[in-house]
Amino acid sequence: MSGLRDGRVAAQFGNGIVRDRAHLIITNKYKSSSKDVMSSPPRKFKARITESVELSPTVLGIAFKPIDFHDFTFEAGQFVMLSLPDEAGNENKRAFSIASPPHEAPEFRLCIKIHPGGKVSSHIGSVPVGGLVEFHGPFGKFVLRKPLDKETLFVAGGTGIAPLYSMIADLIYTKAQTDVTLFFSFREPYDYIYAKNIEQMTEKHSNFKVYTTLTSQTVHPEEWCGSRGRICEILMHIIKSPHDKSVYICGPKEFIDASKETLVQIGLPLEKIFVEPW
Ligand SMILES: Cc1cc2nc3c(=O)[nH]c(=O)nc-3n(C[C@H](O)[C@H](O)[C@H](O)COP(=O)(O)OP(=O)(O)OC[C@H]3O[C@@H](n4cnc5c(N)ncnc54)[C@H](O)[C@@H]3O)c2cc1C
Repeated sequence: MSGLRDGRVAAQFGNGIVRDRAHLIITNKYKSSSKDVMSSPPRKFKARITESVELSPTVLGIAFKPIDFHDFTFEAGQFVMLSLPDEAGNENKRAFSIASPPHEAPEFRLCIKIHPGGKVSSHIGSVPVGGLVEFHGPFGKFVLRKPLDKETLFVAGGTGIAPLYSMIADLIYTKAQTDVTLFFSFREPYDYIYAKNIEQMTEKHSNFKVYTTLTSQTVHPEEWCGSRGRICEILMHIIKSPHDKSVYICGPKEFIDASKETLVQIGLPLEKIFVEPW
């Protein structure tokens, strides 16, 4: 049962999805593995697209299987550099956070927001399932800090959910001793990507709660009955004490700055706040 639906706070900040949307549903392909996950040293590799689904009208969820890097591993929160050639044959490289948990490696998933005119994001959708693309990685230090605190908080803005989803799924898979709370801000109801998986995780794991908020002012109440407005109000309302917590924030820079400022106001020390701006 998600903490969202408990009592007054649940009514105020609940998951507001009113209509079920098939494109929000992705399958969670947890493999059973007990190996200790370490990040492999970064290198160039090729990977085959094994699945491509619309997570929303503007976000693709793409699964990849490395074909020449069979021991590819990564830490939850890391990213890879995707290279795509343009019409002139120039390689364009962009960073994408791995959205799947490490125990699924060597396979991994990305969620890519399509920017019309973007050199990489607007072209990846035209690579068919079965097609090959080139990566370099894994990279990044935006990873879970051990030992874990009593509470681990995640603050996601839009597709900034990607590395945080990987971290949350990793904490749940490894049965980590920490209470996990996700604060997820998005513009439209369909931007609540991974909704079904997130809701299922909150139902199965009593130590995982999620609070969502919608920022678009124009969405009809029939489409969204949950919380609306800025992430800062929810953070301020829900986080009762600054103690024994680490916070991981990912999203656009302004979103990160605003969230961080609120957390500092609440009293969280800066050294407990970790960020990945895009
Ligand atoms: C560590 C890290 C992790 C990241 N992880 C993710 C992730 O998981 N998912 C994700 O979606 N993104 C992620 N990003 C962002 C990603 O790397 C790219 O910046 C993003 O996809 C845009 O790249 P692009 O090639 O599509 O656009 P670019 O070609 O770089 O263009 C940038 C912007 O300009 C606009 N633009 C480009 N050409 C035109 C034009 N002709 N006219 C008007 N506007 C134009 C595009 O719409 C776009 O908004 C991450 C970034 C970092 C640094």
